[in-house]
Amino acid sequence: MDYFSGRMSELVEQLAMLPGIGRKTAQRLAFHIVSMPEEKVEKLSSVLIETRKHVRYCADCCTLTDSERCPVCSSDRRDHSTIMVVETPRDLAAYEKTGKYEGVYHVLHGAISPMLGVGPDDIRLKELMKRLGGDVKEVIIATNSTLEGETTAMYISRLIRPLGIRVTRIANGVPVGGDLENVDEVTLLRALEGRTDL
Ligand code: ZN
Repeated sequence: MDYFSGRMSELVEQLAMLPGIGRKTAQRLAFHIVSMPEEKVEKLSSVLIETRKHVRYCADCCTLTDSERCPVCSSDRRDHSTIMVVETPRDLAAYEKTGKYEGVYHVLHGAISPMLGVGPDDIRLKELMKRLGGDVKEVIIATNSTLEGETTAMYISRLIRPLGIRVTRIANGVPVGGDLENVDEVTLLRALEGRTDL
């Protein structure tokens, strides 16, 4: 690190704090950034700041959005009586890409993991329960097929079943231990169609 100027080291350090960016990648990015035209760097930094400032959680489904409600929740062409529960906004995007799901979503922003100390209160579960008062007919649990995803699915189904709402789990077309966002659209649709009651 001593080979670089103080500012370069600082930039490398900041970039290396991002997930999936190791030191080597951070250095490569830093060198790239200092060789970019100044106005491009200004654009990049202003997009970072503006995005952070304006992106917030949807008042209904908790996904990330620019406005009070996300486009899915504010659409009256969607079936608001079916809620698909996913772990991250990226999982939501994966199902939206199929273009076949007509219901709405709920984004938990994580999964229950006793090992990592993530409990039910650490994910957006209370927000989901608040939505169930209306005319919700089915909750489809589409958490990942990981230990955490399965634990979360069991926990949620136990909470919801007494309310008389149908609770289903997507089929095991999704590979065990696989993240939803990496699964192709056909597999996602098959998993959705083959869902079973919990
Ligand atoms: Zn929403």
